[in-house]
Amino acid sequence: MVASFTSGPPEPFDVVIGADGLHSGVRSLVFGPESRYLRDLGFLLAFFTVPNRLGLDRWMNGYAEPGRNAMIRSIRDNREAMALLSIPGSSTDFDHRDPAGQKALLRKHMQHMRWEVPWLLDQLDSTPDFHLDSCSQVHMPCWSAGRVALLGDAAYCSSPLSGQGTTLALVGAYVLAGELAAADGDHATAFTAYEEKMRDYVAANQKMGADNAKHFSANSRFGIWAQHQLIRLLPHLPRKSLVERKMSRVFNGIELPDYPVPAVPA
Ligand SMILES: Cc1cc2nc3c(=O)[nH]c(=O)nc-3n(C[C@H](O)[C@H](O)[C@H](O)COP(=O)(O)OP(=O)(O)OC[C@H]3O[C@@H](n4cnc5c(N)ncnc54)[C@H](O)[C@@H]3O)c2cc1C
Repeated sequence: MVASFTSGPPEPFDVVIGADGLHSGVRSLVFGPESRYLRDLGFLLAFFTVPNRLGLDRWMNGYAEPGRNAMIRSIRDNREAMALLSIPGSSTDFDHRDPAGQKALLRKHMQHMRWEVPWLLDQLDSTPDFHLDSCSQVHMPCWSAGRVALLGDAAYCSSPLSGQGTTLALVGAYVLAGELAAADGDHATAFTAYEEKMRDYVAANQKMGADNAKHFSANSRFGIWAQHQLIRLLPHLPRKSLVERKMSRVFNGIELPDYPVPAVPA
């Protein structure tokens, strides 16, 4: 197949793998608009670097009001901190190319919050980095079409709340590369085997991400109180608690095949 680019001449390829993230351009070109596949989990997440003024030492502090959360955790050997803010919303509530508008949205939703939130909102003007997006997953009935296959967030984003997005992307890359090598150039066989091996593992991790999202942002003061009691309880649960066993089943839910290493031409 021949792929054409925004810049540079068209080039022939045996296969094209779209590993271009949640807002994959390859997915839009080959499988249709993003809105068909994006499943919003109900809130927007913003991340940005701030000074570690709380003196956190490999620690995270948080504060919640109904529907809204603020967290600060130390990063880079405690030299700096990362702020995480969440507000209710979906992927259509903001413009991806307008960080000023995104910051205004955060201010609108969070301006009356207490704790460190007013200081965090002030930092929005001076932070060296800023990322805001909807907390979303990608669900697709099929991850390939012809000679094009998708991988990682582009195909099966599980959302930052699963904590498993990087693992899924790396495991997916390993399985896809292994199946392509094992099928000896038969891309259709390789894409089918990749999907068969990954489907259940992806589904379990996406379910975990969606379940975590249900409990991430409580909508009432009682809900926030209950959340805090649960967090206090966690260290006192027996070591191999039900929660730990369930997570371990999801994390280890795929048997990685030992693929033959293809010979590299000299
Ligand atoms: C704030 C945040 C925190 C997270 N925390 C965690 C965590 O703690 N643990 C975890 O496992 N996961 C976490 N995740 C999720 C994790 O980052 C992703 O699941 C993972 O990076 C997916 O990898 P990927 O390679 O599929 O996509 P990406 O990492 O998004 O990589 C896609 C790449 O494609 C590039 N690209 C896109 N379009 C083009 C183009 N047209 N031309 C050239 N290049 C292009 C992008 O620049 C990018 O480099 C977090 C995500 C976010 C947003």
